[in-house]
Amino acid sequence: MNFHILTLFPEMVMQGLMTSITGRAVKQNKIGIEAVNIRDYTQDKHKKVDDYPYGGGAGMLMQAQPVYDAYRSVADQFPANAKKRVVYVTPQGTPFTQQMAQDFARQDDLILLCGHYEGIDERALESIVTDYVSIGDYVLTGGELPAMVVIDSVSRLVPGVLNNDESAQTESFSDGLLEYPQYTRPANYKGMEVPEVLLSGHHGNIEKWRHEKSLERTKKYRPDLYEKYMAENNNGR
Ligand code: SAM
Repeated sequence: MNFHILTLFPEMVMQGLMTSITGRAVKQNKIGIEAVNIRDYTQDKHKKVDDYPYGGGAGMLMQAQPVYDAYRSVADQFPANAKKRVVYVTPQGTPFTQQMAQDFARQDDLILLCGHYEGIDERALESIVTDYVSIGDYVLTGGELPAMVVIDSVSRLVPGVLNNDESAQTESFSDGLLEYPQYTRPANYKGMEVPEVLLSGHHGNIEKWRHEKSLERTKKYRPDLYEKYMAENNNGR
């Protein structure tokens, strides 16, 4: 799977994504990540990419032309039948979830469009965007961090990116619940013992304990998810 980031700050996203697990996955050719500098596509002789909004108001807007042309430079390279999505990260988008990450992970190519200043001329968005995605109800200065969040969460669902694919199947949100608490050595840390069942070697009991803890934790921290899970799984209520 290939990620293409349309941005005014390519070095910011590449520095972040070329480290740790995503960086290793690129080096191993499990995924591809490229950043395209929108400024390289402006037709303005001073390399300007923004202008004042019509109708007045605070701040500057990114212009349609360089955004659209940067998009074309990427999209024109795809085969006609490529499975692709074009995501504009914006506080006005649908809140990002693990389900959306799973959906994006089934694509061949994901283009992420990062806004800056007050955002992007609506006509560019209408021409190219398939999905509007928010990473939360707050406003950031630019779309680079949100794009990195989306790429990080999607790439770890691509087969082979994590060393142990099972970990993506058992963690929080994969089954609608938060993950159970986990422990590693030593078995006694400052007088705090690891729950005995985890040392028992009895897989059935361990699974049962983990499921109970997942339910407990989800009910406490995310009652909204808990209600949904109970309704969908018809857990005897
Ligand atoms: N004027 C815009 C509005 O009120 O919706 C906010 C623009 S924001 C200052 C600049 C850029 O940061 C946006 O175009 C978007 O790409 C990105 N951005 C900011 N907050 C975000 C969020 N919560 N989720 C996703 N992208 C965000």
